[in-house]
Amino acid sequence: MDSLFRLDIKYLKGIGPARAQLLDKELGIKNYYDLLHHFPTHYIDRSRIYRIADINGEMPYVQLRGRFVSFAEQGEGAKRRLVALFSDGSGVIEIVWFNRIRQISEAYTPGNEYILFGKPNQFNNRWSIVHPEVDTTASIAATTGMRGVYPLTEKLRNRGISSRTFHTWIQTALSAIKIINDPIPDEILSRYRLTGALEALRTVHNPASAQMLQQARLRLKFEELFLLQLNIQRYARRRKHTLAGYRFAHIGENFNSFYFNRLPFELTGAQKRVIKEIRADMGSGRQMNRLLQGDVGSGKTLVALLCMLIALDNGTQACLMAPTEILATQHYETLSGLVAPLGINVKLLTGSTRKKERDIIDRQLADGSLHILVGTHAVIEDRVQFRQLGFVVIDEQHRFGVVQRARLWKKSAVPPHVLVMTATPIPRTLAMTIYGDLDVSVIDELPPGRKPIVTLLRYEDRRYDVYKSIGAQLRAGRQAYIVYPLIKENEKLDLKSLEEGYETIRETFPSYRVAFVHGQMKPAEKDRQMNLFATHQADILVATTVIEVGVNVPNATTMVIENAERFGLSQLHQLRGRVGRGEGQSYCVLMSKHKIAADTRKRLELMTSTTDGFLIAEADLKMRGPGDLEGTMQSGMMLNLNIASLATDGQIVQMARDAADSLLDTDPELAQPEHTRLSKLINLIFDRKIDFSLIS
Ligand code: ADP
Ligand code: MG
Repeated sequence: MDSLFRLDIKYLKGIGPARAQLLDKELGIKNYYDLLHHFPTHYIDRSRIYRIADINGEMPYVQLRGRFVSFAEQGEGAKRRLVALFSDGSGVIEIVWFNRIRQISEAYTPGNEYILFGKPNQFNNRWSIVHPEVDTTASIAATTGMRGVYPLTEKLRNRGISSRTFHTWIQTALSAIKIINDPIPDEILSRYRLTGALEALRTVHNPASAQMLQQARLRLKFEELFLLQLNIQRYARRRKHTLAGYRFAHIGENFNSFYFNRLPFELTGAQKRVIKEIRADMGSGRQMNRLLQGDVGSGKTLVALLCMLIALDNGTQACLMAPTEILATQHYETLSGLVAPLGINVKLLTGSTRKKERDIIDRQLADGSLHILVGTHAVIEDRVQFRQLGFVVIDEQHRFGVVQRARLWKKSAVPPHVLVMTATPIPRTLAMTIYGDLDVSVIDELPPGRKPIVTLLRYEDRRYDVYKSIGAQLRAGRQAYIVYPLIKENEKLDLKSLEEGYETIRETFPSYRVAFVHGQMKPAEKDRQMNLFATHQADILVATTVIEVGVNVPNATTMVIENAERFGLSQLHQLRGRVGRGEGQSYCVLMSKHKIAADTRKRLELMTSTTDGFLIAEADLKMRGPGDLEGTMQSGMMLNLNIASLATDGQIVQMARDAADSLLDTDPELAQPEHTRLSKLINLIFDRKIDFSLIS
């Protein structure tokens, strides 16, 4: 298999140097291995034509044969689109394009016959297909059976490279390959009854039957996950055996005097259990890498603080990193408020820390008189040097890239213990892959006295009632958040609706003070506005999702989410977690327009029926695929799977994990001759990606 890496695609018939360069840039395809591992995302059954009249919600894709009746441009600006009507005699369907409008309207002739392939959507009781594949009937007349559809980019399409082009290249490459030495050991192939490497590749690119395709896909998914697990587990084992860590054997003055004299609340049972787990880990003499999961409001900060105090008791310094300046500041205020009276020196370092203060921080870090450093990304800059960094807490780590985390390691001769905290519940299969062998602690209990948040779904026609309820909360001295979506594609429009919302709120609640925050504001102004709300100099905060993570204002009891249909479930859950943090009954109102797709409604209704973060995360993973979760949690991690899906291939993940484990039990370094192929392949694949297993 590794010989495929040596075959450059530029020598493949029909590619050449220019296209090779483009393929590398667009899809990272450099050699035969990459090309053959560029898999179809779906298959068209070329023998099957559907009737428009028969389309129903169960069909993921349809192939239609008919004629364009008309083309019309609609909408303006970002919403500009080309809408065609397409008829096959049984019915008419709308076909929509959002870009390349001019080229498309010139390319297709009304009256001629075409074959369309795409995903039907139902909207306002009409069927439509957005961005279908369009073929002339002549061009595909000769093809039958299943044909793979390859993922492409806009640039490739513009350069005339189509799914069919890929098909041809891949067939050419495959016909040149006579054998592939299977990297997966025979014993594993037979244990899991897996198809051989070359046969699987041939089949996936040219399936003779659905059943063979399924076998081939199973093999390729297994291979992908198996290599990934081997890579993670191999390094994880190595690290466990070789990386010594600080041994925090001692519980001393700092911990005890805080715990016995200044603890603001009785710890929950879950907090106590988790602290015990962390303590045992930090005392083992091995470096700790632990993930602390706990739903929003479960009290992770206090746990982190107590562990930092243990680090101080053992003569080292501690550091807490947060993803935003607002959060870092809030952590800083909380922590210094709690421990400054004990003589513990806590300082804040962010991008806007002034030079004079920075110099003090640098000096005190170096001489050890600064005990706890709280900050943003700024704390991982190279100039920040600790005397002896023993413990690092990373809050809401998915906002940090892996590369950034890796830099922490350089800050100490002995690697510090690391505690990664997250409120995003991570389904098991995902955690297994993303976090490798990170040990996991879970706070599965909320502090007492919290009343479950009441979540309501409200449509536009009830807006007045919603305002009335907000008013009632404000009169009772409570505060409210009103959140708007801000989605990159359409920033201008979103900003406009945010600003209009702000005006409406000011007019509706003239006797209350309204703060206003969005992502494009200058950090200083953002902080000022946030601060107004945090200190109750403002009663209402109109904001975008900048408030999503971690902000803590216990007096806020109402969260209104505008255009809730545009948010993902996990995001809604995070937002909802901003309320319900104090004693008062809290409310979360999901505002939505009336006309939403059935699955969107289902998503929103799930929010009203549960506050269980794990349930919501699982549902989110099923409904939207792992893309979103992966995207947020591992930005920079480059875990790009070609064929396996962490959302739906949980069983294969488990299989691959077991197989990797048992193989490494017998040959931890993959050094035996029968495993050299495997070891070579892993190196080839993962050398090009970031080796996150060393880091997590
Ligand atoms: P998160 O886990 O979301 O980071 P925080 O650490 O911000 O949660 O805690 C949420 C709120 O609960 C804070 O106001 C905190 O002071 C409070 N809190 C934490 N632990 C307890 C406890 N054991 N009893 C009561 N309140 C607590
Ligand atoms: Mg928090």
